[in-house]
Amino acid sequence: MPRPAIASVLVFSLLSAPALAEEIGECRFSRETLTFAGTPLEQATCLLRKVELRAVRKPQPLPPVIVRLMSDGGEPSAAQKAAAIAAFPEPYRSYAIQHADAPTSQTEEGLPLLYFVIHDTSHPFYANDPFPKRLNADLQVNDFAPYMNQTFAKAPVAHIFLNRVGQIWAGHEFQEGWRATKLESRVVGSRARGRFVHIETVQPRRFLPGATSRGQTYGPKPGFTREQYRMLAALYVYTSARAGRWLIPAQHNTVDSTIPEAHDDPQNFELKAFGRELEKLLEAA
Ligand SMILES: [Zn+2]
Repeated sequence: MPRPAIASVLVFSLLSAPALAEEIGECRFSRETLTFAGTPLEQATCLLRKVELRAVRKPQPLPPVIVRLMSDGGEPSAAQKAAAIAAFPEPYRSYAIQHADAPTSQTEEGLPLLYFVIHDTSHPFYANDPFPKRLNADLQVNDFAPYMNQTFAKAPVAHIFLNRVGQIWAGHEFQEGWRATKLESRVVGSRARGRFVHIETVQPRRFLPGATSRGQTYGPKPGFTREQYRMLAALYVYTSARAGRWLIPAQHNTVDSTIPEAHDDPQNFELKAFGRELEKLLEAA
């Protein structure tokens, strides 16, 4: 009986195919190629959509500098890499110099680093208490200790922690593949490790009015300081130089879009401000 036979072949192929053919999330990550869909420019356009309260994602124009880098390809010049390193404060600058010629991570299948993922720490968490008055200078807000001392996990949760005065602490060197999204840890698994670097940018949170769950919080406005945008730009140029290509900038929430319990960070990330600092750094070199 041909029909049932064909049907069962079809069912079999439908059941076995999704493992590789399935695309994950709104930016359509392929399990096979470990890449989001489209050209670098199309990927950046999807991954840099504005993340609003409760993880509502809205399209926004890319800064001209990002359009240029994503369209033209290539990599940072030696002078641009040097300018990025020079922008770093000590002691991170010495650490960055020490590792400046080391390769960046790759996946177990040998695919190179491709995505530069921006997060906010959503910490400290103030629940129903107000944010500190002098937020950017606050010692608790800027303290790296909780990221170092296993408050959140046994190992640091990201490659980089960047506080509100622009200080940087490296939880993992960029040679080390490290996961910090659900896409990597729960959906694709260890095969994805090494494809992403993760930058945790310090921004506190508190409950939205009437909220009781950590999924219903908000951050201060402005969300990040000028120093944080400057350092995000410098880290982006530095990691891109080491990777030998302009990495595709992304955000935690857009990487994990549609995955259950996806985090809503970064909140209040001003793409224009990031673009301005990036343009400035590249022009000065
Ligand atoms: Zn995150």
